[in-house]
Amino acid sequence: MKDNQSTLNVSGLFAQSLSKEHIELQEKASRFAEEVLYPYELSCEENNGLEQHELTKINEQVLTWDLNAINHSKEDGGQGLTIFEQMLVNEQLGKVTNALWDTVFQPAYPMRFGTKQQKEEYLIPTNLGKRRDAYAITEENAGSDPSQCGTRADKVDGGFKINGEKWFVTVGDVADYILVHAHVDGDPEKPTVFFVDKDSHGVKVKRTPMYTHNFVYEHPEFIFKDVYVDDSKMLGEIGGGYDLTKDWFVEARLGIAARCVGAAIRATETANSFAAERKQFGQSIRDFQAIEFMLADMAVEITAAKSMLYRICWELSESWERKLNHARAAAVKLHCSEMAGRVCDKAVQILGGRGYMRENPVERLWRDTRVDRIWEGTSEVQRVVIARQIKKRGLGIYVD
Ligand SMILES: Cc1cc2nc3c(=O)[nH]c(=O)nc-3n(C[C@H](O)[C@H](O)[C@H](O)COP(=O)(O)OP(=O)(O)OC[C@H]3O[C@@H](n4cnc5c(N)ncnc54)[C@H](O)[C@@H]3O)c2cc1C
Repeated sequence: MKDNQSTLNVSGLFAQSLSKEHIELQEKASRFAEEVLYPYELSCEENNGLEQHELTKINEQVLTWDLNAINHSKEDGGQGLTIFEQMLVNEQLGKVTNALWDTVFQPAYPMRFGTKQQKEEYLIPTNLGKRRDAYAITEENAGSDPSQCGTRADKVDGGFKINGEKWFVTVGDVADYILVHAHVDGDPEKPTVFFVDKDSHGVKVKRTPMYTHNFVYEHPEFIFKDVYVDDSKMLGEIGGGYDLTKDWFVEARLGIAARCVGAAIRATETANSFAAERKQFGQSIRDFQAIEFMLADMAVEITAAKSMLYRICWELSESWERKLNHARAAAVKLHCSEMAGRVCDKAVQILGGRGYMRENPVERLWRDTRVDRIWEGTSEVQRVVIARQIKKRGLGIYVD
């Protein structure tokens, strides 16, 4: 069966309104996904990850293709892409299964607020593919409500002592440092983020659970026991942890939304090709109205979600107003992730039994996109954010 690998259609609805530079960027990301990452999908699926030498090779390719740190400034070693341009890249990367998009590293946004020393030690080498970050907020008792964070950073002479436990630390297996969200002196009014080197005394992996997807990296749980960090390891100021985390959420939520649109497009392309080729009862299955109506619904779902995504990312590229961006990123993440769930599910259905085979991309996309309704804030939490914004600022921020 053919996996209809996308060649971007420049006469498409969205391509028509893009500049030449944007089309070139989109095409580059699309080629990178297909030429560099697709070939690793099946071995990543079978082995729940890749060998170190394969990761190193991809890392080199990311740098060669100038796709490293698209979300950070050129001055800091990144590509300096706008939010809209980042979205164009992320949409293409979202077509790749097994979260291989995460090899195209986009270091955590809040690091740009670091000191000169922090940038030299952490951000710049990370942007250049020499180091790798992970971001740890979630805990056993602090999930949707991070104010319940039990990890504490007690002030000691010249620095802090960190104690606590973090769960679901994505890329925790290969990262060499972790941005740890903790409460200074255990005070919920003092949420603060710290750079913690993974080889620091007292940092330990507790366990590495298995998940629904076969992600290219792991999501281990970490224990921090009397981990000493000096004052220079604090990112921003004491009590500034939430604002930094919120900024990270905005960027991460837009990235998820873009990838969900990409995933839905690949699933639909694959289902569309399959429906044309597959014959049952003496005819192509796409000529059954039940199948073509599914394809019609999938296409319309994508058009609607993609219109929203492009519009909001364009606006965010023009203005960086923290609260409004938070409100809009929640809406687009909610809609695009729910849309991808519905579309990938239909793609599985159109492929019938083959849709349930792990060797087919629609099956992996269906499984991979399930987490997009959970991480970086569940769908319910996005609705809480949106509802609060409506109450506070009026419905107009979404509908006018
Ligand atoms: C694969 C994976 C990778 C992850 N990577 C990271 C990472 O790198 N760093 C990190 O810090 N975290 C990470 N997470 C954690 C993720 O962000 C949390 O799982 C998520 O925020 C939900 O928290 P929880 O799992 O504790 O669920 P809970 O908060 O316990 O929620 C359980 C259920 O209750 C609902 N609920 C909770 N509060 C409300 C409410 N106010 N109103 C209505 N419903 C509500 C939820 O929507 C959900 O349905 C990852 C998770 C996964 C699965």
